Amino acid sequence: MAQQLVYYLDNNATTRVAPEVLEAMLPFLSEQWGNPSSAYSFGHDLGRHIDQARLQVAELIKAEPRELVFTSCGTESINSAIHSALFTRPDRRHIVTTAVEHSATLKFCAFLQKQGYEVTFLPVTSDGALDLQQLDRSIGPNTALVSVMLANNETGVLFPIPEICRSKGVLFHTDAVQAAGKLPMDVKELEVDFLSLSGHKLHAPKGIGALYVKRHTKYQPYIIGGGQERGRRGGTENVPNIIAFGRAAELAIANLKDKSNSIRELRDQLEASILQRIDGTSRNGPAEPRLPNTSNISFRGVEAEGILMLLDQANICASSGSACTTGSLDPSHVLTAMGCSATRARASLRFSLGRYNTAADVTYLLACLPGIIEKLRANAPVEEPLETSLG
Ligand code: PLP
Repeated sequence: MAQQLVYYLDNNATTRVAPEVLEAMLPFLSEQWGNPSSAYSFGHDLGRHIDQARLQVAELIKAEPRELVFTSCGTESINSAIHSALFTRPDRRHIVTTAVEHSATLKFCAFLQKQGYEVTFLPVTSDGALDLQQLDRSIGPNTALVSVMLANNETGVLFPIPEICRSKGVLFHTDAVQAAGKLPMDVKELEVDFLSLSGHKLHAPKGIGALYVKRHTKYQPYIIGGGQERGRRGGTENVPNIIAFGRAAELAIANLKDKSNSIRELRDQLEASILQRIDGTSRNGPAEPRLPNTSNISFRGVEAEGILMLLDQANICASSGSACTTGSLDPSHVLTAMGCSATRARASLRFSLGRYNTAADVTYLLACLPGIIEKLRANAPVEEPLETSLG
């Protein structure tokens, strides 16, 4: 069956599985389908391949392979890091995080609050930046963990992880799900105890993640069962996805050198053209420091839902907010935290580019979008007072 042509500009939601990744994982769905924990070689020989994938993913963040635990997704990695910090330090019952984290962090922290833990959700400025002194002041003797994302999934804004204070013996976790494969990363420079990754954001399939646990950091497993992952995560390994993640990490390292600049150029071209050609548009967040692939733009007087519907009719995929929260009527918590009005937040779209985007995709978007905005503004003008630009 012929594949429908889509113009996919939503690579922060998920990414296409790379053909090389598919090729690497297929034998582990067809011929080599054993269980790595089995005593016979048809099973336990798979351990070699898992070790190789662990090495490849470790290389992506300059970790040691033994510091990586494979999980089922970024959400599990994040929940596991927070859970471990609290269980290995039962005397400390406070977490510091930010108001703009992904729901994997925010909702787990809100759940913990209901169980009696104390959580500080730090605000951000209109540029999406953190006040590092405020962060420092919020850490106390009761704080078990600071969890701050490396790159925001909606705006692409980067937080300066190495600059955040590491004193007071507090554990540090960073959600690097969006940064991985888009920026070079080194866990030693980041100085983190935990770091979360997700395969499907870098051209591996959905359903595979990894948690970096710094060597000698005490760890309490979140999923308890068999002795897989050296006792750190129960459950039979998802061998095909682990192999895929390894190959995807290897490709990401190679592409960081070759492709990163061209993605940035394409993003800059897309953003500049929209801002120039369509009245009443402005970027949400600063130009830098930002992921090279992400652009979040508000369109005065229109609702993102309407734009997305018409883009969809033109086979263009983009999004408003994160994929996990679209469908809800709430305006983006990230843009709201940056001081955007609910109207402006609901009038904002995220475009996120990836390895397979070409100049033709951007040209096509730019051919469609001005007409869509014009049509929506003509049909259903949403009155809104002029706001000062955000970031
Ligand atoms: N953290 C961030 C910043 C994300 O963008 C996402 C996914 O959108 C996640 C965590 C969750 O990852 P997963 O979908 O693998 O659970």
